[in-house]
Amino acid sequence: MTEQDLSGRVALVTGGSRGIGRAICRRLAQAGAWVAVNHSSSDEAAAETLAEIRADGGEGGVWRADVSSFAATDAMFGSIEAERGPVDLLVTNAGIASFQDDVDMPVDLWRRILAVNLDGTFHCVWRAKEGMRAGGDGRIVCISSINGLAPTTMRPDRLIAYGTSKSAIIGFARNCAVAFGPAIRVNCVAPGLVDTDMTRDMSEEMRQRIVAGTPAGRTGTPEDIAALTHFLLSDAAGFITGQTYVASGGLVTLP
Ligand code: NAP
Repeated sequence: MTEQDLSGRVALVTGGSRGIGRAICRRLAQAGAWVAVNHSSSDEAAAETLAEIRADGGEGGVWRADVSSFAATDAMFGSIEAERGPVDLLVTNAGIASFQDDVDMPVDLWRRILAVNLDGTFHCVWRAKEGMRAGGDGRIVCISSINGLAPTTMRPDRLIAYGTSKSAIIGFARNCAVAFGPAIRVNCVAPGLVDTDMTRDMSEEMRQRIVAGTPAGRTGTPEDIAALTHFLLSDAAGFITGQTYVASGGLVTLP
């Protein structure tokens, strides 16, 4: 067994139907975890994620739940627990963004982005923590963003709500790492630009400008983010908690 083997583990990946979440689901299942694929609306895409897991020889199931609702999140956890036992690997990845200039955003837009990105992360961590504390070996990765570390200056869209939600996720994860250690490790991953549905409407000119400022000379893939997330969930990262890891090809570097 390698240090990154996840056999016998029960993983939940929110927003697992598409993009980064789908790649994380696949990666964790390839490492041996049983994977619950969460999504909020795209049933077909979620079924495709599960089909890919099975094609790789892995196992899992699909749970439709809007993580911005605690009642829906609670019901999802109850159902997973009834089928497989407590979740001991959690990836809070579900997220939404509005790539517009937020300077005059409507109040409802702020509320929705914070509800999905921040409250959704809180709901899942809160629901997972009791089972993880009882089991004594829970591991959580929260997906933040480079926009949670610094406001965007390269783009005309000022992501006030999105950036705030992603900063708050980093603060939340740090606090949880202290509160719930040693039973639970909690870390964040802050991706740079990754090609997914979320970023598909970006202009080619903007994409090229970002790539030109990126030492790695390319945008990220969902698999880049999945590899880092897998590492942080594994035994290999046993001494790492409360941290934020940036995967942006060098576009953003921490001091
Ligand atoms: P994506 O392709 O748009 O996929 C978003 C996923 O989140 C989908 O599976 C979607 O489910 C799910 N989701 C949305 N709202 C939900 C809700 N209320 N409850 C449950 N699931 C919900 O996005 P992505 O690019 O893979 O992004 C994944 C995460 O990475 C997000 O947190 C995002 O902020 C972060 N991120 C992305 C980038 C990037 O450049 N792509 C960069 C930094 C950080 P449905 O399919 O059912 O809608």
